[in-house]
Amino acid sequence: MVDAMVLKRDLSGAVDRGELFLQYQPKVNVRRQQVASAEALLRWRHPTRGLILPNDFIPLAEATRDIDRMTLWTIEQVIADQQLLRADGRDITVFINISGQLLSNAKFVKRACEIVSATDVPLGFEITETSVIRDPVSAIANLNIFADHGIAIAIDDYGAGLSSLAYLKQLPARELKIDKMFVLQLTSSNRDPLIVRSTIDLAHALEMEVTAEGVETPAALALLSVMGCDMIQGYLISRPVEIEAFRQYMRDHKDAALVDSARATFRA
Ligand code: C2E
Ligand code: MG
Ligand code: MG
Ligand code: MG
Repeated sequence: MVDAMVLKRDLSGAVDRGELFLQYQPKVNVRRQQVASAEALLRWRHPTRGLILPNDFIPLAEATRDIDRMTLWTIEQVIADQQLLRADGRDITVFINISGQLLSNAKFVKRACEIVSATDVPLGFEITETSVIRDPVSAIANLNIFADHGIAIAIDDYGAGLSSLAYLKQLPARELKIDKMFVLQLTSSNRDPLIVRSTIDLAHALEMEVTAEGVETPAALALLSVMGCDMIQGYLISRPVEIEAFRQYMRDHKDAALVDSARATFRA
């Protein structure tokens, strides 16, 4: 176990010391078998402790309020990486995870909108419902501001936290991501397929596209495809990788039948 006090102290300088970096994971459209978009996932290369994953430092950054600066850095880094993808002829939306507390932080919202306004690369934000429920009035208002700036909004980890259909229908979201807790054992559980299918139907009724996260097996993909799931994300397709590897991935899968090739890779 890492000592939270020490990590908190180290974290405050991590952005300036250049210790943070991003990995990208594609989301693939099931029907078209093409990359639809990607998600940026933050990592911390600690000088002595090595790689630290977000579940171990994002909560600390939220507690120390370093999360504002870290997320603004992330947005700027994603925009820089987007220029590389654009130069390769691959203009895809890249989604950034946004902590709930930032949705009621007026300074963050203003700064994020300024950064986004200065570029024309397609960006998206992933937010959880739990983060909306904490302060719904300002969260919904700020999500509308982001949407007005052309940012695609996706609801992350759907079903894993606090849910409210009353808020769900008010959010300017085009995409709903089913949490991996319902997907990882999809083909070996009795209840998960029922939950996933009804969630897909609910999202479609609300005119949202559905992404299943945590797709690791061809069997899960096959079932999701039958259920009408629009997009999948998971180790079956690709693990999160750094920008150079992601660019290579995009070159390798230009118009290919991505899902089939992933299936072949997975079985090999
Ligand atoms: P998330 O946004 O729900 O991201 C999905 C997590 O599942 C990622 O873990 C990803 O690496 C992992 N994953 C992807 N495919 C599979 C799979 O097939 N099987 C399994 N078992 N796992 C898979 P990661 O990168 O450790 O991130 C964890 C969480 O940390 C993210 O969950 C997100 O909530 C948060 N996070 C990541 N980057 C940021 C960031 O820049 N800002 C904020 N606020 N939160 C972030
Ligand atoms: Mg996410
Ligand atoms: Mg998620
Ligand atoms: Mg998750």
